[in-house]
Amino acid sequence: MTILVTGGAGYIGSHMVHELVDAGEPVVVLDNLSTGFRFLLPASVPFISGSTGDRELVGKIIAQHGVTAIIHFAASIVVPDSLRDPLDYYRNNTMNTCALIDTAIQGGVGQFIFSSTAAVYGNVKESPIPEDAPTAPISPYGTSKLMSEIMLHDAGRAHGLRFVVLRYFNVAGADPRGRTGQSGPVATHLIKIACEAAIGKRPKMDVYGTDYPTPDGTCIRDYVHVSDLARAHSAALGHLRRGGASATFNCGYGRGHSVFEVIDAVRRVSGRDFPVEIAGRRPGDPPELVANVDRIRKGLAWHPQFQDIDTIAAHALAWEKRLLGKRSGGAG
Ligand code: UDP
Repeated sequence: MTILVTGGAGYIGSHMVHELVDAGEPVVVLDNLSTGFRFLLPASVPFISGSTGDRELVGKIIAQHGVTAIIHFAASIVVPDSLRDPLDYYRNNTMNTCALIDTAIQGGVGQFIFSSTAAVYGNVKESPIPEDAPTAPISPYGTSKLMSEIMLHDAGRAHGLRFVVLRYFNVAGADPRGRTGQSGPVATHLIKIACEAAIGKRPKMDVYGTDYPTPDGTCIRDYVHVSDLARAHSAALGHLRRGGASATFNCGYGRGHSVFEVIDAVRRVSGRDFPVEIAGRRPGDPPELVANVDRIRKGLAWHPQFQDIDTIAAHALAWEKRLLGKRSGGAG
C-alpha cells in the first residue's frame, strides 16, 4: 500500500509527503534534488535520489516498497525557461513521465495522480475556466504537461491504469506548522516576492501592468493554499481507492485576487509598507485566470481550509522568515 511521491523534496511534493505521513500512509520519495531539498522532509521517510526516467531504479522501488499508487510531481516548472530550452522540458517532463507511466504499468501499480497546470488552457476567453475548455497551451511547459495528460488517457484506456489529473491554478502559502515551504533561491511568484519585500530581503517589488481590463487594472489569479492542494491529492487517492473512474479536475478555489489585493494582504499580515513600483506588463500574462470548481466540488471529497488570502500570505510570510533565519545561521 506504499505511495511513491516523485518530486517529493520540492515545494508541493514536500507538503504532500507531510500530509501523507500525518495520515499514517507509508511513503517513499524519489527526487533528483535539482530543485528540491532533503531538509523539507520528515527524517523517517525513505528517500531515493534519482530520475523518474530511470526505469530500472523505479522498477526496483516499486517492487521493494510494494508501491500501489504514484503521485507524480517531479518536473521542470519555469515557463520562460521552457521557451528558451523546449526540448529539455519535453525530455524532463514528457519523456520521463512516459517512462514512469510505463514502469508503473509493468510493476502493476494501479493508481496514478498527476500534477498538471492551468497552463494547458493557454489564452482562454472563458472565466472561470471549466475543465472542458479547449486546451491550447502557449508555452512548451504547458504543452509538456498536456502531452503527459494525453499519454495517461491513452495508457489508461489500453492498460487499465486509473488516474486523476489535477490542473493547478496559482499555488501559494506554506505548511501551517512551519515544516516546509517554497525554498528555491530565486523567487518568481508574486506572493513569495511580496513576502521577500516585506522582510527586507529585496528593497522593493514591481507590479507587472496596471492597464489590464480588470477592476483595478492588475491581473487576477486564483491563489490556492499548498496544504489544501496536497489535500486535494489525498482526496483524489481516496477516489481511486474506492474504485472511482479516471478524471481531470481544476484545482483552485474558484475566486480571484488582483495583484494589488495580494500586495495589500502581505502588507496587512506583515505590518510592513514595503515599496512597490509600477512596471510594464510581463509578456504572456493573461488578465484573468480563475478555476471553475464545480467538477472538483462534486467529484472529490475535498474540503479546503485555508482559502482566506490573508491566511495564505501569513503562512508564506512565516516560512520566508524561517528561511531567512536558516540562511543567516539562526536556529531556523
Ligand atoms: N506579478 C507581479 N510582480 C511580480 C511577480 C508577479 O506583478 O514580481 C504578477 C504577474 O504579472 C501575474 C501575477 O502577479 O499577473 C501572478 O504571477 P505569478 O508569477 O505568481 O504566477 P503566474 O500566474 O504567472 O503563474
